[in-house]
Amino acid sequence: MTKNKSIKRTDSPEGREYHTPSAGIFFKIKNLLYRQNSPYQKIEVFKNEYFGNVLLLDGLVQTTERDEFFYHEMLVHPALVAHPAPQNLLVVGGGDGGALKEVLRFPVKYVCLVEIDPQVIEVSKRYFPWLLPCLKDQRTELIIADGRKFIEETDKRFDIILVDSSDPVGPSASLHQKRFYKKLKNCLNRNGIVVAQVGSPFFHLESIKQISTSLKELFKIVSFYISPVPTYPGGSWCFVFLSDGIHPLHTRRDPPSGLNYFNLDIHRSAFSLPNFLKEKLE
Ligand code: SAM
Repeated sequence: MTKNKSIKRTDSPEGREYHTPSAGIFFKIKNLLYRQNSPYQKIEVFKNEYFGNVLLLDGLVQTTERDEFFYHEMLVHPALVAHPAPQNLLVVGGGDGGALKEVLRFPVKYVCLVEIDPQVIEVSKRYFPWLLPCLKDQRTELIIADGRKFIEETDKRFDIILVDSSDPVGPSASLHQKRFYKKLKNCLNRNGIVVAQVGSPFFHLESIKQISTSLKELFKIVSFYISPVPTYPGGSWCFVFLSDGIHPLHTRRDPPSGLNYFNLDIHRSAFSLPNFLKEKLE
């Protein structure tokens, strides 16, 4: 699976991320708040007048204060409204805490966040205000570990697993492989669901096709859905919903109140794919 948000990395003071050699997104940096290499990746946070604090890993936008809700609500809520009784959840990656914040809106029992890079957690605590209260929540367990290794070694079982990985290079590469999904499946309870982000339908069509073929060999239900994410390449992002027993359009409950984007009409429409993507996946 490839996300490959950018083919050219940058740490330029203009805050540019290239999606092709000739096009991309730029941010004017009001203040550079943090720039350091961790043992895993280059971590940067800057303030932009419009988007607020922006987190980049290896030069690629991960989240912004202003538009984070699109990606995080759409990563989390489709699975949570479709599962009959979600109690134990796992988030792999997701060190910025946005996915964790959304999961904790539900009365779940336990959420395990497995993040490889403690420096992402520390930086996010400082610059993204939602993370700290989520880590203090009694239901949260933070485990600093490689998600692949964790999945291979744990005897915990989960109702829902959310893969909030970064791009398929560096530490995240193993989280995009078929064998990782095979192991994930062993960690699911009966009627379990996995949701993962799979890239831009516009820029990463071929890799979405490839992962679709692999995942169809592992799961009975492989349903792709899309959402706008203004600061990701192409402005639209693709996710995959995987299960052996739960159909995403058979919803069991309303979403929590207070969401900015997700509702049940959005849920139903998100699984309607544009022709170019539908044809590719058939
Ligand atoms: N929403 C973001 C996006 O798609 O751009 C991704 C969110 S989050 C910041 C991704 C996290 O995955 C990063 O904090 C990174 O350190 C973490 N990560 C990368 N490889 C990992 C691995 N093998 N195990 C656990 N976490 C990993």
